[in-house]
Amino acid sequence: MKVGFIGLGTMGGPMVLNLLQAGHEVTVHNRTRAKEEALATAGAKRAESPKAASLGAEVIVTCVSDSPDVETVVLSQNGVIQGAAAGAVVVDMSTISPKVTRRLAAALAEKQVQMLDGPVSGGSEGAQKGTLSIMLGGEAEAVAKAMPVLEAMGKTITHVGPIGSGQVTKAINQVIVAGTYLSVAEGLALGMKAGLDMSQVVKAVGGGAAGSWGLTNRSENMIKNDYPLGFRVRLHHKDLKIALEAAEELGVTVPIAAYVAQIEAGLMARGFGDEDVSAIARSIREPSGLG
Ligand code: NAP
Repeated sequence: MKVGFIGLGTMGGPMVLNLLQAGHEVTVHNRTRAKEEALATAGAKRAESPKAASLGAEVIVTCVSDSPDVETVVLSQNGVIQGAAAGAVVVDMSTISPKVTRRLAAALAEKQVQMLDGPVSGGSEGAQKGTLSIMLGGEAEAVAKAMPVLEAMGKTITHVGPIGSGQVTKAINQVIVAGTYLSVAEGLALGMKAGLDMSQVVKAVGGGAAGSWGLTNRSENMIKNDYPLGFRVRLHHKDLKIALEAAEELGVTVPIAAYVAQIEAGLMARGFGDEDVSAIARSIREPSGLG
């Protein structure tokens, strides 16, 4: 299919490589244009703006940071909305507010362009391997149109409900990740202080009821106290703010998510906002005397 792709960060770059590998015709745009070069070498076309990347595309994917960034990429003068043809499907794979998602979908609908929210989980590893979990909100017809593109990037592709449902599902995902990472950090600190062989500990508990993606993929960071990307602390903090807002609106108590958001605000203030989110282990290691 003809695909326009905007946002070539940690996630977007490898997602485009998988689209190319699956035989799609991809035109890419990134605000920092130099990031387009490696993808052009791999066979993508380059476009000077989100509008230009959208011209002639059947499916247009956006994968940028936060709600205002998607608004800029879609609605600005050189935005997707100016280039997308009637009948095209825009899939926003960024993690943003469900409210903003619904607003963008309404603006695109005026031009007969359909929108899906398709936030993802599975980390940079999932983006590289094409094994992301994609949480979709929108019309079934648009989901069917975009499916060949989605299948090149993800393994678990779930149509949850109407527009915005994907983003609410992603908020649920991030609430669960917050609690899991913090618990993994606490458990590992116990093991380290007890002087155990931590690779054996991770093997033992990972095979039982305490097994989790965070334990398998991020315990090494927490043990070494080194947090390469991954998923930035500041992006997870942004996601928890979306979850806290939704919880407030729905009248749900989410104390662990609120606590982790506070830990992350402290990490950002100390200059750790661009570390991987497993850096929340610092908040357990340091008061435990583990440095
Ligand atoms: P990233 O590495 O920080 O990249 C962000 C991308 O967004 C860059 O291409 C950046 O362009 C672009 N961007 C930001 N603001 C923009 C604006 N105002 N106008 C145009 N482009 C803009 O982020 P990422 O890790 O790829 O994450 C992208 C999205 O996926 C986020 O919503 C994140 O929450 C979500 N996500 C990430 C992960 C993960 O493990 N990393 C996992 C699941 C979901 P420049 O290059 O010019 O800065």
